[in-house]
Amino acid sequence: MLVSVLFSLAILTTAWCCPKHDNYQSHPHLGRRQVRIDVGREPKDWNYEHSSDWATIKPEYHLCQQGTHQSPINIVGQELAKHHQPTFEGYKNEPLPGNFFNWQFAPAFTPHHPDGQIMQLPSMKFDDREVFLIGWHIHAPSEHLVDGRRSRAEIHMVHVTEEDDEAAVIGIRIGVAPADTPTESAFIKQLGPMIHFNDTSQLEGLQVNVRLAIDEVGGLQEFWTYKGSLTTPPCSEGLRWFVPKQELLVSEAQMVQILAVSRFSHRVPQEVWLHDINL
Ligand SMILES: [Zn+2]
Repeated sequence: MLVSVLFSLAILTTAWCCPKHDNYQSHPHLGRRQVRIDVGREPKDWNYEHSSDWATIKPEYHLCQQGTHQSPINIVGQELAKHHQPTFEGYKNEPLPGNFFNWQFAPAFTPHHPDGQIMQLPSMKFDDREVFLIGWHIHAPSEHLVDGRRSRAEIHMVHVTEEDDEAAVIGIRIGVAPADTPTESAFIKQLGPMIHFNDTSQLEGLQVNVRLAIDEVGGLQEFWTYKGSLTTPPCSEGLRWFVPKQELLVSEAQMVQILAVSRFSHRVPQEVWLHDINL
């Protein structure tokens, strides 16, 4: 009994950003669509209505209150970053299969990979490090603010080290293209019909070209970067955040589609302290 309790505690305290993106396996024999409970949708003991008080839920969440470089933040009056430039040669411009689902708050995608084969995933390089994309998910509205302005949504592209430790997240804000230059996002278009936050099924084997998201924000040539944390409990620190200057622009209809299947999912902005923005 004690062992099983300790085991479940160990699972619950594993540091992952938002959804765990652990639903990386394909099950072609089960068909393209199926009900999967608790895969990529673990039960939560926290909610967004009380995101300023997560540390009171249990001791394991203490960093949500005591952390020195918590995320998200409001990026105010900052020049663009001159260091830590990420590169994306390891993001091939081609679709890759994965599982499309809703992480209880908004759309999400986990690319397939065989067990333990993280290095097959798209990779980003920065500071002589190589990190691998284990998945992306959306928050609505955006978690990061720029000069006090919040976007309608934000994509988190979550990257881990070869050892499967979280290392870097790209936080791409999503905005609606201006009416005089209507733009449809090819990245969003390829997803097809969205899955609602109440729907526990996932679409298996959806082909998604993740490179499009990077290209649609100018390849991250212009960005801010800082030392931050997970934006959900346990609020673990030690991740590098990249926030592209450009929003990923979608059409009005695409934004409505995203919002129609999403729930309120941003943590209150955290005070800037030891974040070393752009340093
Ligand atoms: Zn997230």
